[in-house]
Amino acid sequence: MKEHLKSPVFKTIAQVADENGNEAYVIGGFVRDLILKRPTTDIDVVVVGSGIDLAREVAKELGGLKVSVFKNFGTAMFKYRGMDIEFVGARKESYQRNSRKPIVEDGTLEDDQNRRDFTINAMALSLNEKSFGELVDPFGGLKDLEEGVIRTPLDPMVTFSDDPLRILRAIRFATQLGFRIEDKTYEGIVAQKDRLQIISMERVAEELNKMMMSERPSLGFKLLEKTGLLPMILPELQDMKGVEKVRGIGHKDNFYHTLEVLDQLVPYSDDLWLRWAALLHDIAKPRTKRFDPKLGWTFHAHNFVGMKMVPKIFKRLRLPQNEKMKFVQKMVELHMRPIVLSEDEVTDSAVRRLLFEAGDDIDSLMTLCEADITSKNEVKVRKFLRNFKLVRQKLKEIEEKDRVRNFQPPVSGEEVMKTFNLPPCQTVGEIKSAIKEAILEGEIHNDYDEARAFMLRKGKEMGLKS
Ligand code: ATP
Repeated sequence: MKEHLKSPVFKTIAQVADENGNEAYVIGGFVRDLILKRPTTDIDVVVVGSGIDLAREVAKELGGLKVSVFKNFGTAMFKYRGMDIEFVGARKESYQRNSRKPIVEDGTLEDDQNRRDFTINAMALSLNEKSFGELVDPFGGLKDLEEGVIRTPLDPMVTFSDDPLRILRAIRFATQLGFRIEDKTYEGIVAQKDRLQIISMERVAEELNKMMMSERPSLGFKLLEKTGLLPMILPELQDMKGVEKVRGIGHKDNFYHTLEVLDQLVPYSDDLWLRWAALLHDIAKPRTKRFDPKLGWTFHAHNFVGMKMVPKIFKRLRLPQNEKMKFVQKMVELHMRPIVLSEDEVTDSAVRRLLFEAGDDIDSLMTLCEADITSKNEVKVRKFLRNFKLVRQKLKEIEEKDRVRNFQPPVSGEEVMKTFNLPPCQTVGEIKSAIKEAILEGEIHNDYDEARAFMLRKGKEMGLKS
């Protein structure tokens, strides 16, 4: 492993640690990602002794780098060539029932490895001169990495009960790395799942977001469902699972459909919030589901109901209540529009309206809608995609011609008031929206002169004097 520890920082740590007679190791995620060849920016260094002292001395040797010290945690860190390097003294931890905060004492490397969550996260590389680059892997982490296995180093029942955040971390790593959770570890998750109650929703959301940003987020949500954790986190998503049948007619399983949409979106967008929109686009289907003897299963207005469900879900998960959430709401609300549009004749006015409502988010919406096609029927899929291509082309043409994305009325309310000598009143609003409608319907262009002429005609019709 020696050749991988190329950064001069490791040599400096080795030198300082040797001079002080301390053992020092690089440990955890950095070692895991080094072996997996995943990019990392965090380096965790553990020293049998004081992490703070070692950080200060190494930073001095490297030319007086600024050290941030966290006395309460016994840690210190500095930045070096774009990397965050954190130092901590080896420690032993013991837990109490009602908290995931352990009681901490100084310990050996072995103690420190025992407190790690998974075998693949417990490997250390020695930094001392004599053993520089040697792997210390007491739990077979290397083998688990090669075989793609998530396993706790100690009894999973204890590991998960001590700090139930590890339950979600197990599922998150399985998702990110495409690994399998070893049987005993899996049983531990299921047995200890109720312990999740002591974890803050911020932490839960952080793990969910990491799953969302992985290559195949569906793996994570399937695991959450199978282990019984999903109802505690996203009961609305759990409710989507299953197929109801009436008179032998079933609908699709919206849970699996949703996950397919999410996975299909991944190669086309790394926008976390568009991925959330994919997860939530059909969230109101269970609530709006009806069986109509003539039409079969319907989910009337599930986009509107879904849009209204988003704030509650975001609030519960402590996700932002700002324009990110509004974007997700907008996507949920509009997600059926392009498909409806492409099923009919693609008229200019329908495209103009869609562009007007979606504004700058039109490309995201189209990307979501393309991912929403999950039919097994190849012919159908090709037809939808062809139609969407047509919609995209029309969107471009109309946008160039009419500039209705981020529509600004070409004639202002002030001008309407001045022209007809009106105070602010409903009539002003009516004239303004008549102008907007005329533009969206294609009766006039999005142009000042045409809009002014239209306004004058409209005012006359309404019996106003200019
Ligand atoms: P990522 O950066 O993707 O979140 P990581 O494992 O590198 O993954 P950190 O959360 O920074 O992320 O953790 C660093 C190391 O600390 C882990 O590899 C693991 O050894 C240990 N660790 C982190 N959280 C826990 C925990 N809850 N229980 C036990 N060990 C943990």
